[in-house]
Amino acid sequence: MSFEKIGLIKPIRDAISELGYTEPTPIQDRTIGLVLAKKDVFATAQTGTGKTAAFMLPIIQRLRDNKPLSPKAVRVIVMTPTRELAMQIEEETKKYLKYMDSSVALLVGGKSLEAQEKQLENGIDILIATPGRLREHIIKKSIDLKHLEIFVIDEADRMLDMGFVTDIRLIHAELQRRHQTLLFSATYTDKVRKLSRLVLRKPEFVETARQNKTIDAINQHIYLVDADRKAALLSFLIGSKNYQQVLVFTKTKKSADILVEELKLDGLKADVIHGDKTLAQRNKTLTKFKKKELHVLVATDIASRGIDIEQLPQVINYELPTVAEDYVHRIGRTGRAGHDGEAITLLDINDKEQMKVIERLIHVKIPRSEIEGFEVDITKKATYDDIKSNRPKKVYPKPTHSRIAGEKGGTSKAPQKKNARVGKKRKTTKRSGK
Ligand code: AMP
Repeated sequence: MSFEKIGLIKPIRDAISELGYTEPTPIQDRTIGLVLAKKDVFATAQTGTGKTAAFMLPIIQRLRDNKPLSPKAVRVIVMTPTRELAMQIEEETKKYLKYMDSSVALLVGGKSLEAQEKQLENGIDILIATPGRLREHIIKKSIDLKHLEIFVIDEADRMLDMGFVTDIRLIHAELQRRHQTLLFSATYTDKVRKLSRLVLRKPEFVETARQNKTIDAINQHIYLVDADRKAALLSFLIGSKNYQQVLVFTKTKKSADILVEELKLDGLKADVIHGDKTLAQRNKTLTKFKKKELHVLVATDIASRGIDIEQLPQVINYELPTVAEDYVHRIGRTGRAGHDGEAITLLDINDKEQMKVIERLIHVKIPRSEIEGFEVDITKKATYDDIKSNRPKKVYPKPTHSRIAGEKGGTSKAPQKKNARVGKKRKTTKRSGK
């Protein structure tokens, strides 16, 4: 269907057409009409599917169709787990509002409460909020939600994992009059189902790309490696396999920064995006990555949520996420739309237990092996109970070429000795890992 057939008015269509949206994504196709029809919606959709526009475009239209009930009212709240995500949604919304005159504002931590109170006094159409700060304003009675018309809970699974359940309940309890609720979640967990029963009334269900289907299309593999050799193994893998567009995940901003420096020292075209980078910096890096001018993008989980690249051939977990469900989000970036994808995890002993939690979550036992030249320290091997008995003799073909050391000078062999490194001479970088 076209945006016109779905029922969006011209000023909104004009704004999105300028952004290059020619046709609705599946989630938009199925959600926009329901929101316009004032239904409660429960949608499972991941970032990158166009879900922000799926709820925001019809919301903007609904605001125009009805007059505010009070000049000082907050009419719509979009609640989202992090400041970073809230800022992204606000930016998108401003673009969608180009030819409309609704107002949008942020209500997130790290900003002065007083300034926010002043802003709230004047009434706001669309408020993008994080749960903690919204709760503070509710407790201080500086926000009046009596006239709220639409409540959006974005990334519900993540919000629950982050422990915001009491905040969400408190906020929900504030909403007295009949309002419309839209709940979006990447995964359909028991916790999310329980929340949906509390906040939704006769919801319409929208499901895009089932989680299991996504996982089936992905080739998952674990390489066991000692923590202090991970960066070297990563460079070796990328170089010897000649990966052109690989997304690498770390747990923290600090380890992302350290890792990218190591990769660059190994001659790889790598860069990093995380919450400390400005939006302009992140966009610039992403554009380069999309054009394959950058071959390796190192990202933290939060930052990666803004990456809208379909069908990445490889995703590598350099460190496992603290929240097991994030593993599913990460690897869901590969193997999309019927293409096979590859998800590799470099597993050191510290993440062993977390890997088991993840495997229980996805109901898959992922095969483990080692790469010649990077085998785990024999003295620690006993703690890797899962490989003791079946350590393969040779699990990785000898590469025929390598970009690691630059164009033609690359080595064609896997490093055999511990600490044998290729590429330029490195500075000693202290790796904290966490
Ligand atoms: P989201 O899933 O909301 O994070 O959106 C992912 C990206 O897709 C964002 O950069 C949007 O601007 C973009 N996008 C959303 N809808 C469309 C569409 N219909 N056509 C093209 N791009 C879109």
